[in-house]
Amino acid sequence: MTELSTRYHRIGLPSIFVAFLTVGLLALLPLRTEAQTEYFFPAGVTFDQRIPSPEEFLGYPLGTFATRHDRIVAYMQELARLSDRATYQSIGTTYEHRPMPVLTVTSPGNHARLEAIRQEHLASLEPGASQNGDIPAIVHLGHNIHGNENSAGESALLMAYWLVAGTGPDHERILNEGVFHIEPTLNPDGRERFVQWTNMNRAEPFVADPLDREHNEAWPGGRTNHYWFDLNRDWYLLVNPESRARVDFHHKWRANVVTDHHEMGTNSSYFFEPPEPVVGWNPLLPERLFTDITLTFTELWADALDEIGSLYYTKEVFDKFYPGYGSSYPSFLGGMAVLFEQASSRGFVQESSHHGKITLAFTIRNQLRTGMATVRGTIDNREKLQQYQREFFATAISEANEYEIDGWVFGDPNDPTLNREFIDYLLWHRIEVYELNSTQQGNGVTFEPGQAWVVPASQPLYRMARSIFERVGTFADSVFYDVSAWTMSLAYGMPDHALRGGRLPMGDRVTEVPALEGAGPVAQSSIAYLMDWSNSAAPRALHAMQAAGVRAEAAFKPFTARTTNGEVSFPRGSISIPVSIQNLSPDSLHAVVTAAAREANVPIQSAVTGMSVNGIDLGSGNFLPVRTPRVLMLFGAGVSSYEAGQIWHLMDQRIAMPMTKVDVTSLGRVDWSNYNVLVLVSGDLSALSGDRLDDLKAWIRGGGTLIAQRGAAVWATQNGLTPHVAEPGMGQPVTEHEEDEEETAVRRDYVDAGDIEGAKGIGGSIWEADLDLTHPLGFGYSRRFLPVWRDHNFFFAPSSSEYSTVAQLVDDDPWLAGYISDENREWLQGSPSVIADQLGRGSVVLLVDNINFRGYWRGTSRLFLNALFFGDQIQVP
Ligand SMILES: [Zn+2]
Repeated sequence: MTELSTRYHRIGLPSIFVAFLTVGLLALLPLRTEAQTEYFFPAGVTFDQRIPSPEEFLGYPLGTFATRHDRIVAYMQELARLSDRATYQSIGTTYEHRPMPVLTVTSPGNHARLEAIRQEHLASLEPGASQNGDIPAIVHLGHNIHGNENSAGESALLMAYWLVAGTGPDHERILNEGVFHIEPTLNPDGRERFVQWTNMNRAEPFVADPLDREHNEAWPGGRTNHYWFDLNRDWYLLVNPESRARVDFHHKWRANVVTDHHEMGTNSSYFFEPPEPVVGWNPLLPERLFTDITLTFTELWADALDEIGSLYYTKEVFDKFYPGYGSSYPSFLGGMAVLFEQASSRGFVQESSHHGKITLAFTIRNQLRTGMATVRGTIDNREKLQQYQREFFATAISEANEYEIDGWVFGDPNDPTLNREFIDYLLWHRIEVYELNSTQQGNGVTFEPGQAWVVPASQPLYRMARSIFERVGTFADSVFYDVSAWTMSLAYGMPDHALRGGRLPMGDRVTEVPALEGAGPVAQSSIAYLMDWSNSAAPRALHAMQAAGVRAEAAFKPFTARTTNGEVSFPRGSISIPVSIQNLSPDSLHAVVTAAAREANVPIQSAVTGMSVNGIDLGSGNFLPVRTPRVLMLFGAGVSSYEAGQIWHLMDQRIAMPMTKVDVTSLGRVDWSNYNVLVLVSGDLSALSGDRLDDLKAWIRGGGTLIAQRGAAVWATQNGLTPHVAEPGMGQPVTEHEEDEEETAVRRDYVDAGDIEGAKGIGGSIWEADLDLTHPLGFGYSRRFLPVWRDHNFFFAPSSSEYSTVAQLVDDDPWLAGYISDENREWLQGSPSVIADQLGRGSVVLLVDNINFRGYWRGTSRLFLNALFFGDQIQVP
């Protein structure tokens, strides 16, 4: 007898009766179904018998297996097939080609005019729109964005069953007055990893011991998506296809209420909102959301869990500060987005420290009950929620008009690809973007029409626009659940400037990403093909050409060439493909270059002579060969899956370069002569010790390039790989101030420890580094100003070689955005961010900061690509 079936029976029944019932449960499906339905749903809920329950459809009681994604999809499709209350759609496709299901449930009458309802709803939100008529509430029920938080996804099956099959006048009213979008699995790829793990380790009878393999997923676990991104940070960043599809859907519907069901540690209970007062609120959102709207629901959730005796807590821990959570982003569209966190059984049953055994069925039921309370609460408060949302968009305009900044101008004159991607990012968030109509100066940059654009503050999504450009430095608290900065223009390395003083220099509105100029057909050259490395699509084109056998060179000094398009200037790092040095025929070379230019959408020029107008000629010794990277990267247990996944994503999705992902357990099989680049990120690198460390050193000395990021940079200095770079100071820096405190033995209240110690960490903030543009790692950059992301406490000293600290935080106030304690601020001044070292004939590149954090740090990911292509050309004088 499983834990689950025990749960279905009231304690105190005579044991013989329990035994009889158990046999009955196993033998008779209808009885079992009824028992399970009784367990999950409140008394008095009735169902249309023609609609199968999840158990009837799947063939097992919910909570006894983890339900595969394709079976969840199939159930949703079956409900849509059987009922005129439901329609099914997939709103997108994951990296692993799984559909992203949404089941829309409402009354048949509403279904018949669903598109009209959507349009009336959106029209009612236009600032200045008149009072809307009788529009149903729009509700989005979201589950399982963290793939291993299984109770969320399983409960969505019951939610769908209830909404589609529920009967009675109350239920009819719910469907008449609401449109419900059920999204059962927001992260299908991650969920499937978890489902596979938990089902393959499932035992009969269940094993509750937390040590059991079932409760401890293998690396990298199912929380994240295919490239191991946390999708519950990506709503704002839009790096992944899941988020892009989802955000698009949310903008189409702009729901009044959005739920986000999660799980947390097994030893906890259940969390629902409100979040922690004031410090957990995003100050750009209306205070009324937290002090009124959410509180309307809090008592409903409490009643729902009180009814079944489940414990919970509120107002602690979780924040809504960062705009990229599922429980925050929809609030920037005027909805009430709310977080639920259930203590996880992480498997089918697990012993907790002081709440006894947590079963999957128990956790599913809690999620279902708060979800049902949300549905009912929305219908009962429909007009209040609709009025709040109209007010949200009206006050966006009035608050923007009060804001000291009128708008922002942005644009990189040297990188049209980055401009296009940033505009795409803004348009995806439905931010209004306009042409710039007169030259502007600011932050040391000249912004010219055609190469720069304007975002006005005053627009319906003012709060989101402001989040994207604002450099936040004032905080209600100093301890963060997550990062404290998210200025997208800084992360993209996008030059921008805040506009003040009234009339904005705006032309026409931009409604689609502008075409790239000059990326047309490539003329055939008998001399050389030339590509500006400033264009951030250039690495992709270079790799495509190298993969076809093309030999390339990089310019270590600038030049101006005569081309079929006239005189064109090329900065350091520009790529030359001389025709005469190839093993390919001139015609084949032209075909390869043309294909690469088209594939990467980057302009490539054709030289008409080797003699330059200015600077080095095309036969100069200052053109050095660019190797074809053959990349090995260490993956596996102990390695940071986030950092590893971000670089894997960069290699796959941005430059389409294959890379060998070697597991830590396979290191002994590596033939180092097959590779010329090794990438290491933070984590346990103890697999690289003894003979393997010696092998690595010999390989570097022979000409290999080690790229070591963050924790791996520290490891490299500790293991004798960096002759010119010492081991950094780590952990909490000891300042004079703190030494004084130790002498006088400061005494503090126990309860304050979390806040005071937490404030000393560097949770993620943005800093100004000075970049050496003449170093090969600085190729393609045009500003010494380099914003970097810092989320650790490693403080390196500069290289003992004067020419090798490539990027260093500036001495004079490097702060750009985010929280930092005063002590750490002192330490950060002058702290290196990128150091290049040499060991024998090889090089060691220390990327002290996470250059590709969450995949959106476009501004610094170029450093990594430079190390790939130019690492063998680094010398330490
Ligand atoms: Zn979660």
